[in-house]
Amino acid sequence: MKLGDLEFHILTDGTFRLDGGAMFGVIPRPMWARVSPPDERNRIVLSMNSLLIRTAGKCILAETGAGDKWDAKRADIYGFEGTPRLPEQLAAHGVRPEQVDIVVNTHLHFDHCGWNTRQVDGRAVPTFPNARYVVQRGELEHARNPSERDRASYLPENFVPMEESGQWWLLEGDQQIVPGVELIRAPGHNADMMCVRLSGGGQTAMLLADLAPTTAHLPPAWIMGFDLYPMKTLENKKRWISEIVRRGWLAVFAHDPNVRAAYLREKDGRVVSEPVAVD
Ligand SMILES: [Zn+2]
Repeated sequence: MKLGDLEFHILTDGTFRLDGGAMFGVIPRPMWARVSPPDERNRIVLSMNSLLIRTAGKCILAETGAGDKWDAKRADIYGFEGTPRLPEQLAAHGVRPEQVDIVVNTHLHFDHCGWNTRQVDGRAVPTFPNARYVVQRGELEHARNPSERDRASYLPENFVPMEESGQWWLLEGDQQIVPGVELIRAPGHNADMMCVRLSGGGQTAMLLADLAPTTAHLPPAWIMGFDLYPMKTLENKKRWISEIVRRGWLAVFAHDPNVRAAYLREKDGRVVSEPVAVD
């Protein structure tokens, strides 16, 4: 897809499974089960989508999926599936790891930064040796010292190696990292999660990350139980979704297994999605 001189693709690191109740917070199971049918272990299927962006002579990868540094027990718990994985998809788009200039992590939960590193001779090393890795400073600080409630979401091997290699580019607040690529803090899921806004040629697309991970999360109250600050999620979700509707931007979903991107319209007081095929 092209926005003026900016070109982007939506890649995916396959799917994983999380507890359906945790994914929909206060929404009763009979309601969410209609839109996201659970498996026999009450898990729903979620994808892990990434953006490959080429603009201003830079190659940017936003989100790096779950990676492959998993033992059998956790691989079973999360039910990872789907090939080709992110590195092969990058290769299919003609991108070698050393050609990636910037890696964006909206936050450092394991399903957003797994391919930041890969295992070489028993230790995790940066997958993208020439890239600067971008995250909010507050998120890296929190990842190093998470709470008992969200500890399971942070795997040090995904973010410590870039501290050692000096590849982190830490932001404090919103920032345009190259012309047409803006990172916007949208707290709620946690304190420092970011959305990614792309613009060019008068058009705009926005990766909502975990502000609204799937199209099922568009209604205001459909907020993940994982969120640390659900009232903030509510506030930011209403703000950005109404902006997307009003301005006719393309919404990109980080975890929807069926709809990677959609235009959002208001219909009878509800926000409905009109899916768009983006490769
Ligand atoms: Zn996520």
